[in-house]
Amino acid sequence: MKLAHGIPDAVLRSWEVVIIGAGVAGTLAALHLARAGVDVLLVDRARFPRYKVCGCCLSLRARRLLAEAGLGEAVARAGALPLRDFQIHSKTNRALIPLPGGWVLSRERLDSILAEAACDAGATFINGVRAECDQIGPEGVRIRLINPLGSETVEAQSVICADGLQGSFLRSPQVAPARVSRRARVGAGCLVDDAPKTYQPGTIYMACGAAGYAGAVLLEDQRLNIAAALDVDAVRAHGPARAVGQLLASARLPVPGDIEQAAWKGTPALTRRRLPGPRRMFFVGDAAGYVEPITGEGIAWAIEGGKVVAEHVKRLLRGASGQEAQWNAAWRQIVGRHQWPCRVMSQILRHPRLVQGALGLVAVRPGLLNPLLRHINAEPRELHT
Ligand SMILES: Cc1cc2nc3c(=O)[nH]c(=O)nc-3n(C[C@H](O)[C@H](O)[C@H](O)COP(=O)(O)OP(=O)(O)OC[C@H]3O[C@@H](n4cnc5c(N)ncnc54)[C@H](O)[C@@H]3O)c2cc1C
Repeated sequence: MKLAHGIPDAVLRSWEVVIIGAGVAGTLAALHLARAGVDVLLVDRARFPRYKVCGCCLSLRARRLLAEAGLGEAVARAGALPLRDFQIHSKTNRALIPLPGGWVLSRERLDSILAEAACDAGATFINGVRAECDQIGPEGVRIRLINPLGSETVEAQSVICADGLQGSFLRSPQVAPARVSRRARVGAGCLVDDAPKTYQPGTIYMACGAAGYAGAVLLEDQRLNIAAALDVDAVRAHGPARAVGQLLASARLPVPGDIEQAAWKGTPALTRRRLPGPRRMFFVGDAAGYVEPITGEGIAWAIEGGKVVAEHVKRLLRGASGQEAQWNAAWRQIVGRHQWPCRVMSQILRHPRLVQGALGLVAVRPGLLNPLLRHINAEPRELHT
């Protein structure tokens, strides 16, 4: 195999579709397009398998969507652990919510399996290569592929931008940046090797406090995954490890001994909205907008988004016009009807007294949360196209 700057020569050509980002949204879009016989290149700047800040919990709805895409067995075989319940802890109260039907799987494994499935379907995947938008023209997009050895360019008739919250693909003055909410929290996460015994498999432990909230869950390899949404001021004042340690301690959950030595990763502001992109450009997943992780739905939105965006891109390739606008409307349907409970909950979580009152209520009447759980786990709808 010939390589130009470490990038296979065979990649350096014109593609029907280039997808930036091999997270859940990008890999699902690649899978559906490749299955339809579309010539697709999937690019990720990280070397796979890669860690990503995430609670690693797949809702029942995400599971159903994976099964619908023919991926349920592969994810189960990778060691996904069944979820049983969700414990929410605050300074004074604690509520236990049964949460059967979901799964826990590290993002290293989940995203690698999805990328593998896309390749099996015929997509080409390169990782450890950053993509930058070079030029957007009437006939297509020119993309620069960059790695430590140098850079090369490829062309695409259409681009799916699935580069997440921290995406660096579009720094073009032709495209408006995402609008970030003024009071947005930031994400932080790490993996801990020695989990205190309190943390049992199948349970999500969530600590809520004034600085935000942190979830801890045991993964398939017994590491403890910690993921948090934190106020910017708390991170500035204490750093993520201490801010999360204080949250866990104030909610009377054990603080892992090696929490300060763990390799913490952060995210930029979580709550954001993206305006529709230019022609031939489709934003999906977190790159298209995000709220906060409190209801654990981001993965389901990304799976569904990957499937639906592929439909619009196929139509564009067949010559249909207006697909970018139609896709934006479809994305609003996918996330819009789900994001409001998430917005409401993230507002409640900003008021510790309200949280304590709500937890006290839920502790005696757990059924109060049934409508919310039904909403989160609603059956996938017909294609929004
Ligand atoms: C603290 C926290 C906890 C969460 N917990 C949960 C949970 O338990 N359950 C749940 O369903 N959701 C959860 N989420 C949300 C979930 O993680 C995201 O919604 C989901 O990962 C979105 O997937 P994505 O494919 O859009 O983006 P990502 O998974 O972020 O993938 C984007 C990819 O793009 C790549 N990339 C970026 N820029 C470039 C570039 N220029 N060139 C090439 N590649 C690039 C990155 O390397 C990355 O691999 C959580 C989020 C946070 C912050």
